[in-house]
Amino acid sequence: MRTDAFALRHIGPRENDLQHMFKTIGVESIDQLIYETLPDDIRLKAPLNLEPAMTEYEYANHIQQLGNKNKIYRSYIGLGYHPAIVPAPIQRNIFENPGWYTAYTPYQAEIAQGRLEALLNYQTTVIELTGMEIANASLLDESTAAAEAMALLFDVRTRDKKKSNANKFFVSEEILPQTLSVLQTRSTPIGVELIIGNHETFEFGNDFFGAILQYPGKYGQVYDYAAFISKAKENEIKIAVAADILSLVKLTSPGEMGADVVVGTTQRFGIPMGYGGPHAAFFATKEEYKRSMPGRIIGVTVDANGNRALRMALQTREQHIKREKATSNICTAQVLLAVMAGMYAVYHGPQGLGYIADKVHRSATTTAGALSKMGITQTNTSFFDTILVKADAAKVKAAAEKKEINFYYVDNDTVSISFNETTSTKDVNDILAVFAEATGTTAETVSALGDVNTIPASLNRTSTFLTHDVFNKYHSETAIMRYIKKLERLDLALNHSMISLGSCTMKLNAASEMLPLSMPNWNNLHPFAPLEQAQGYQAMLKKLEEQLNVITGFAGTTLQPNSGAQGEYAGLMVIRAYHQSRGDHHRNIALIPASAHGTNPATATMAGMQVVVTKTSENGNIDVEDLRAKAIQYKDNLACLMVTYPSTHGVYEASIIEITKMIHENGGQVYMDGANMNAQVGLTNPATIGADVCHLNLHKTFAIPHGGGGPGVGPICVAEHLVPFLPTNPVIPTGGSTAITAISAAPWGSALVCLISYGYITMLGEEGLKSSTQHAILNANYIKERLSGHFDTLYSGEMGRAAHEMIIECRPFKANGIEVTDIAKRLMDYGFHAPTVSFPVAGTLMIEPTESENLEELDRFCDAMISIRKEIEEATADDKNNVLKNSPHTLAMLTTDNWDLPYTREKAAFPMEYLHENKFWPGVRRVDDAYGDRNLVCSCAPIEAYMEN
Ligand SMILES: *Cc1c(COP(=O)(O)O)cnc(C)c1O
Repeated sequence: MRTDAFALRHIGPRENDLQHMFKTIGVESIDQLIYETLPDDIRLKAPLNLEPAMTEYEYANHIQQLGNKNKIYRSYIGLGYHPAIVPAPIQRNIFENPGWYTAYTPYQAEIAQGRLEALLNYQTTVIELTGMEIANASLLDESTAAAEAMALLFDVRTRDKKKSNANKFFVSEEILPQTLSVLQTRSTPIGVELIIGNHETFEFGNDFFGAILQYPGKYGQVYDYAAFISKAKENEIKIAVAADILSLVKLTSPGEMGADVVVGTTQRFGIPMGYGGPHAAFFATKEEYKRSMPGRIIGVTVDANGNRALRMALQTREQHIKREKATSNICTAQVLLAVMAGMYAVYHGPQGLGYIADKVHRSATTTAGALSKMGITQTNTSFFDTILVKADAAKVKAAAEKKEINFYYVDNDTVSISFNETTSTKDVNDILAVFAEATGTTAETVSALGDVNTIPASLNRTSTFLTHDVFNKYHSETAIMRYIKKLERLDLALNHSMISLGSCTMKLNAASEMLPLSMPNWNNLHPFAPLEQAQGYQAMLKKLEEQLNVITGFAGTTLQPNSGAQGEYAGLMVIRAYHQSRGDHHRNIALIPASAHGTNPATATMAGMQVVVTKTSENGNIDVEDLRAKAIQYKDNLACLMVTYPSTHGVYEASIIEITKMIHENGGQVYMDGANMNAQVGLTNPATIGADVCHLNLHKTFAIPHGGGGPGVGPICVAEHLVPFLPTNPVIPTGGSTAITAISAAPWGSALVCLISYGYITMLGEEGLKSSTQHAILNANYIKERLSGHFDTLYSGEMGRAAHEMIIECRPFKANGIEVTDIAKRLMDYGFHAPTVSFPVAGTLMIEPTESENLEELDRFCDAMISIRKEIEEATADDKNNVLKNSPHTLAMLTTDNWDLPYTREKAAFPMEYLHENKFWPGVRRVDDAYGDRNLVCSCAPIEAYMEN
């Protein structure tokens, strides 16, 4: 037997465990189990046509060689992306550390205090630099954040009677091109009209509800927007500002100018460009808009002892509750990147950031001054990091590329140069030499950066920032290393135990898949670099698209959407464009089963569709007759069905072919939510079940780590007739022949992390992928059988099997006074993260073990669940002082001198033997959600609060 196959590393159960597992389940073989699980008519007829699997060693060589095809020139392109220095301790201790990157979204706050604190630091950095009142814990990229700002201002306009009919949104012509494109995509379906123009000549009409400005402008000019903003205020027009975070260290903040929302990216805070992403975008606004804010906000609250604790605030705003009334569908954001950017601020502190911003500014002014001495004109009158130079662009480009330098060429005689943290005097001299060659002059040389400041007095930042302790004490490597470790230890991630989240697929994120992310040839490329310098990326991305086409059975793929919800949005916008191309402008009904994930109805609304909810039958399947009736009732206007397969209940519905056919017969398209693709790969696929388009969550099924709540990649794969509509990018065209405008900022979205999925598929190959799916189903059914008799499984297929996940019933335990949350919290005492709580059915748990867990871990989890089941039995309805209600138990509780709980310490914290050798201590006692929502605090306390103590 080969022992170097990656599949043996990725898949948990060992060969000699299988007989025991089969016996428990009651089958002879894995084939029999799959036969009893997957309906006959949807099975793939032939194996996936993929290249043979590479070993990990072969892949390492392959990716190194492919990486060498990326030419890493010095980049001064700007436009929202800049070379950045990732501090080595952050790279090693966070970026490359599974303790950070394999964690889940911090819904279970008690075992997530580390990343919650890191995110609070991030929010504080954003709040203070932008001068705003509140900030969220990241959005996907600057352009989608700008679109969210527009959507928020559109949503809140009705608070003002005069504006409730206003539908125009002014967009400054200084906005980044990719942001303009995303705004165009987002505005049309919700009925917003974009008016693009010069903010200096804009006339403030009554039909405008809002405006967006870029600060500094796209080619670097710094404008004083104070007058514009105050005039807008007089006209009740709300203002969003897309700002460069580093420039705010030196410039008056948009908040101080009166902005209502400030967005941007924190990429240049120590995040590699990665050919477009992932990076954390920020979103800051005023207190009064907190309930309309997209994304997740980390807030301060108290635990059961009244001690300070952190958690995600205002969770009721999530699409799961608001559904089609939500104005945003954002779910996965960019947590890992926000953690890194926040830590960059912690590591550098206000002085370090001041030094970096100064250096960047002085690089720009020094170069401008030297060019001027050479007789070359620079036209920005006030700038932070970007200068606009008049010269023959073709000649400059030729000279620059010889020196492996990229500028941005605005037009035939204008060159934009953006400086960054890495720029040295040598770089400045090289740039001057390029212009000397291009213009036939003699180059000036500089020996040091000058001290000129071109920022007008009115825009020189005078307010302080990052005065809090946390930004002023971890500036040595020892200090930051220990701080990062301290936070890491508070968080339970996949490197501790199984995280069996139904629908969220927390599988192995293999080190061989992750390593290439640290290679300079992969992570230092600007997304708008010329294609001939990105040949490694182009080859990898094209191959990944082809692999995904093969896996889904479809004809085309776009990797642009940077989350599953963004994929849903891209898919519905493609469907919309398809209908419109056939003159069917009226098709706007989206049928969505009641059990759908909250992002589905939220997305449909964003795409301008009207949601019609269809019923779920008693066995948890789609009520086919109700669906048929509605498909027929709405046939003239039917746009699509959004369906999750296998269903959100973890069942392969046998009627799926009938369902998709019925939608097509009534003029609709079928959108398949691919979050459950881990139950399909290699066995069936969306094309086979009759879908037209699906999104995939590469951060679920295809091994990209969750990063504590992002990054994500949500490509869509489409059938032939939808390929022409795949989205483009305004700077580097991508997509179909009649492409829709951009879904996200970068042409290939979060290209860097696509390497992980590419590695996953390339190292598993056809057999490994299929085997992974089979083992995911095996593991789920093993848990189902082991828990049977202790917990009821809610739904199963026709032959009694689960797919890759199952829902277990917890509502009857209310008779013993136990809620599903009590089980979730008690699991922490056993060293486990809870399965998915109350989705898709309130009061239940949805368990998905994935193929990566081995028998020992599955058994440990089942033993813990069965032990908890016994504890439930011991509980009584009026007893609020039991081991479940008091969970999780902290070390401080256990070691108190006056232990007065009615059970032993052993039972509280070491209910099972394995815990004696591998105990995870929750950082805080159970958090109080209601308290935190009533008193929303989403930044570190100001220094004064500490001084009072
Ligand atoms: C995770 C998930 C989504 C959303 O994906 P994000 O990447 O979080 O935006 C959509 N539908 C289902 C069923 C999911 O599980």
